[in-house]
Amino acid sequence: MATNQPLHVIVAGGGIGGLALANGLHRAGVSVSVHEREVERTDRLQGFRIHIDPHGSTALAELLSPRLYSFFAACAGKGGNGFGFITDQMKQILQFDPREQPFDPAGGGHYGISRITLRRILLAELHDTVRFGSVFDHYERRADGRVVAHFADGATEVGDVLVGADGGTSRVRAQYLPHAERIDTGIVTIAGKYALTEQARDRLPPLLLANPLTVIPPRGCGMFLAPHEFTLPTDATNVLGGEDRPVPESLFDDTQPYVFWAFGAKRERYDTDPETLSTTDLHQLAVRMTTGWAPELRTLVNDSDPETATAIPIKTSVPIPAWESTNVTLLGDAIHSMTPYGGIGANTALRDARLLCRNLIAAENRKRGLLESIHTYEAEMTDYGFAAVRHSLTVAEQSVSDNPIARTAGKLAFRAARAIPALQRKMFADILS
Ligand SMILES: Cc1cc2nc3c(=O)[nH]c(=O)nc-3n(C[C@H](O)[C@H](O)[C@H](O)COP(=O)(O)OP(=O)(O)OC[C@H]3O[C@@H](n4cnc5c(N)ncnc54)[C@H](O)[C@@H]3O)c2cc1C
Repeated sequence: MATNQPLHVIVAGGGIGGLALANGLHRAGVSVSVHEREVERTDRLQGFRIHIDPHGSTALAELLSPRLYSFFAACAGKGGNGFGFITDQMKQILQFDPREQPFDPAGGGHYGISRITLRRILLAELHDTVRFGSVFDHYERRADGRVVAHFADGATEVGDVLVGADGGTSRVRAQYLPHAERIDTGIVTIAGKYALTEQARDRLPPLLLANPLTVIPPRGCGMFLAPHEFTLPTDATNVLGGEDRPVPESLFDDTQPYVFWAFGAKRERYDTDPETLSTTDLHQLAVRMTTGWAPELRTLVNDSDPETATAIPIKTSVPIPAWESTNVTLLGDAIHSMTPYGGIGANTALRDARLLCRNLIAAENRKRGLLESIHTYEAEMTDYGFAAVRHSLTVAEQSVSDNPIARTAGKLAFRAARAIPALQRKMFADILS
C-alpha cells in the first residue's frame, strides 16, 4: 500500500454519516470523494425531523465549518432539551425540563431538525466532492493494496481507503462482512405529521407542543411525538442554495411547523399489514389503533394529513465479533443499524464520522499508520456502536411489550425519578445520551 502519497478516501453513501465525514476530511485537506446513489433523496423518512443529541452535535461542531455549525443550530426547532412521558390518557408520568442551553460553538446540546434541512447543510460546502446518482456496486484490491471501487454505471475509482457509509442495506458490508446480519424485529411503526397551522395549534394542549413525549399505554404499543417549531434564518437560501426550490408538499414540506408522531406495535397486533396499505388506509389504521386514547391524542392522529402517513418496518443489526482491520471500513447504519427507539442511530453515525475523521487525519499526517488508525477507529466504534444497538433493541421491545410487570416497573421507576431529582437527571442523561 502506498504510504508516502497523500491519502485518497472514497466514501460510498452520502447520508448523514458519510457527508459529515466528508466535511471533516475536506476541511482538513484530506482528498475525499462521496458517491451517493440518489440525486434527490425521496424516501419517506426524509419528510420527518430528527433528534440530534450531544454526541451528534459535538461531532457536527467539529466536522462542519463554524459558519455551517451555527447555521445548523439556528435551523433547529425549539424545545429539543426537554422530554416527557405520559399515559395514553394524557396523565403525566415524568417531565424533564432542562433549560434551553446557550449556543456553544463546540457543540453538546440537543436539537430537533428537519432531515431535509440537515442534508442541505451537510452538502452546502462539499460542492464537487459528491457524485450523485453513483451507485456503489463492489470493490477489489489491487496488488499495491489500494482499493478499486466499482459503480453501477461502469465507472471506477482508486483510493487508499474505502468507507462504507451506505446505510442499513450496505453493499460494502455485504461484500466485506457477509456474515453481519440485519434482521426484522417484528415491530412496525406508523408515522405521520400534524401541520401546526394557527387553528390546528389551538386544538392541541400546551403539553403536546412543549417538547418530545413518549406515550405509554397499558400494553402492547407506544407512541413517540415531537413538536417541530422552527424559524429558518433569513439567509437560508444564501447559505444552502436552492433559491428556486419549489416548496415541497405535504410530507416533504420542511418550511412549516408540525408535530411528528410515530405509533409502534408488533406486526401481529395490527388488524391488517401496515406495509401493504395506501397512505389513506394507513392513516385510518393509526386512527383505529389509538381508539380509546385521550381526545387530545386522538386529535393529533385523526387530524394529521393522511398523505404523510408512513409505515416503517423496524430492523436491527446483529452485533458481530471484531474482525481484522483493512483499508475497507464501515460507519453508521452500514455496520450498526439499530431501531429508531432511543433516537440514537444518526447520532452514533455522526460519532463514527468524527472518530474516523480524526484517525484518517492522523494517518494523513503520518502520526499513525493507516491500518493502525482504522483499527483504532473500529475498536472504539464497535464498542459503543453495538452497545447502542443492544440498548435500542431493549427499549423497542419494552415499548411494545404486553408484559404488564415490565411496563409497571418502568412506570414505577419514572414515578420514583419524579420524586428524586438526582435520579431524574440520571434518567434524562440515559434517555437522551
Ligand atoms: C423512524 C425513524 C426515526 C429515527 N429518528 C432518529 C433520531 O431522532 N435520531 C437519530 O440519531 N437517529 C434516528 N433514526 C436513525 C437514523 O435515521 C439512521 O441511523 C441514520 O440515518 C444513519 O445514517 P447513515 O449515514 O449511516 O445512513 P443513511 O442516512 O441511511 O445514509 C446512507 C446513504 O447511502 C446511500 N446509499 C445506499 N446504498 C448505496 C449505494 N449502493 N451506492 C451509493 N450510495 C448508496 C443512500 O442513498 C443514503 O443516502 C431514525 C430512524 C427511523 C427509521
